[in-house]
Amino acid sequence: MIQIKDLTKSYKMVSDDTQQDIRILNQLNLTVQTGETVAIVGASGSGKSTLLGLVSGLDQPDSGEVIINNQSLQKLNQQDVTGFRASNIAIVFQQYYLVQHLTALENVLLPLEILNQKVDETFVKNLLDQVGLSHRIHHKPNQLSGGESQRLALARALVIKPSLLLADEPSGSLDVDTGQKIMSLFFDQVKKNKTTTVLVTHDPSLAKKCDRVFQLTNGQLQVLA
Ligand code: ADP
Ligand code: MG
Repeated sequence: MIQIKDLTKSYKMVSDDTQQDIRILNQLNLTVQTGETVAIVGASGSGKSTLLGLVSGLDQPDSGEVIINNQSLQKLNQQDVTGFRASNIAIVFQQYYLVQHLTALENVLLPLEILNQKVDETFVKNLLDQVGLSHRIHHKPNQLSGGESQRLALARALVIKPSLLLADEPSGSLDVDTGQKIMSLFFDQVKKNKTTTVLVTHDPSLAKKCDRVFQLTNGQLQVLA
C-alpha cells in the first residue's frame, strides 16, 4: 500500500548571517501493507509531521520516493498529486484546517462534492452522530470547541471511506476522556473498513493499539513493537 524508499528531507535554517541545512529525514524507509495500522512516535521536532507531509504529497523530499497504491508521488505533477490525494488519502492534522465559512455538515460534505460522490445521507448523519456532533451540524468552526473541531476533522476524513488515512496527533487537543472516546471511534472505523492507517501520536497507549509501532529518531524509523 505504502512504500517509502530512502526518503531524505532537509530544511534551510537561517540565523543571523549563516545559513545551514538541517536534515530532518535521512534515507528513511517504511513499507505499510494494505489494512495495516502503523503508529509513529518520537520527540517533538523529530520530523513526524514532516514525514506525513511527504507521504501525503503536500511536500516534496530532497531525494527518495513515496509510492502509494503502486503510484510514485514523485512521478506526478503537482496537479495530479492533488487529484490523487483527494481520491486516495484522508488526513487529520494537528491543526484542523476546517473551512471557516462552511457549517459542520458542509465541511463533512465537501470532500464528497470535490470527488463528485453521491451523498449517502444516512451514512453522513451516522458519522456525525458517532463523533458526537449531531447537535452541532449547523454550527461553523469558530462556534465549536477544540475537541468538537477535531471530531469534525475526523468525520470529514472518514466520510470518503479512504483507502489511506494519515493522522497527526488527532487526539492532541482533546481532554483525556474525549480523546479516548474519539480514538476508540477512530480505531472502530479503521478496523471495520480495513483502512490503512499511519498514526502519529505522543500517547504510548494509542500507539499500542496499532499493528506496528516505530520511533522516529535521527531521521530514521526504529521498530518499537
Ligand atoms: P514533529 O512533528 O515530530 O514535532 P516536525 O516535522 O514538525 O516535527 O519538524 C521537524 C523539524 O523541522 C523541527 O525542528 C521544525 O522546526 C523543522 N521544520 C518543520 N517545518 C519546517 C519548515 N517549513 N521550514 C523550516 N523548518 C521546519
Ligand atoms: Mg508534529
